[in-house]
Amino acid sequence: MAEKALIEKQIHGLREQVAAWKQAGLRIGLVPTMGAIHAGHLALVERARAHGCKVGGKVGNKVVASVFVNPKQFGPNEDFAAYPRQLDTDARLLSEAGCDLIYAPQTNSIYPPGFATTVAVSGLTDVLCGASRPGHFAGVTTIVAKLFNQCQPDFAVFGEKDYQQLLVIRQMVRDLDMPVEILAHPIIREPDGLALSSRNTYLSDEQRQTAPRLYATLEEMAAALRAGQAPQAVFAQARKALQQAGFRIDYLELRDPETLQDRLTDAPRLQQPARIFAAAFLGATRLIDNLAVSPASPS
Ligand code: AMP
Repeated sequence: MAEKALIEKQIHGLREQVAAWKQAGLRIGLVPTMGAIHAGHLALVERARAHGCKVGGKVGNKVVASVFVNPKQFGPNEDFAAYPRQLDTDARLLSEAGCDLIYAPQTNSIYPPGFATTVAVSGLTDVLCGASRPGHFAGVTTIVAKLFNQCQPDFAVFGEKDYQQLLVIRQMVRDLDMPVEILAHPIIREPDGLALSSRNTYLSDEQRQTAPRLYATLEEMAAALRAGQAPQAVFAQARKALQQAGFRIDYLELRDPETLQDRLTDAPRLQQPARIFAAAFLGATRLIDNLAVSPASPS
């Protein structure tokens, strides 16, 4: 049986525990989540565990996972109220994965009356989810900046499932000189390819059958681009295929993996490594996914 993680709801309790661990020479890894824990989150916890330095043969780190459904990153017509909340189950799963402390603050302790500060990154947030969900990334960077200040981790782990979020957080950390190392973890998928997400529980049985077509389409696109097909034609074909499968496309784009500059040009073939980004609705449920693509290697 895994040792049970401590649960802290108060910032001072978190701070005391982290200070004691740091005093003992341990490094602190933070995994921010909104709960509804699944194997994607657990992979980040395991990554954080494994990242510890070895001290006298023991793992020299402690892993803190935060569970907080952050109202500031939801738009007015989004699923904040419906978002699954299940702290007991989350605590058990996180403990089993090797998490040492679960920080589950109340909304009014994070945003007390009079709270008036926003941390916002420009540029990277103008496109993709930033364009579709105004204010979303400012909500994300504000909460992550607060969590970093509250927990003072040495490192934090984020999933490539939210690839744009990862880039935005890296930019914030660089720009604001935050002493936190940012680690990325690849996307964890269901056996049929669907990226794990807390929102997958919203899907009806029929939608769940259709959902893996999103990743399958990205893989087909990557293969076609690698084979030297024209990017515009590959994207036009993929859009048609997704719509025919029943998706309402929010975006399907080809962008630079670091700057997010648009890479979908009229060029006859893909010129340089890039990333495909997709967001698409099945009914009211919005799914996102992304995949690295590279040009054919010159023969
Ligand atoms: P969330 O609870 O959705 O805010 O996600 C918390 C963290 O888990 C973020 O860094 C996400 O990118 C990451 N994450 C969510 N789903 C996955 C997944 N399927 N694979 C890898 N990381 C994920």
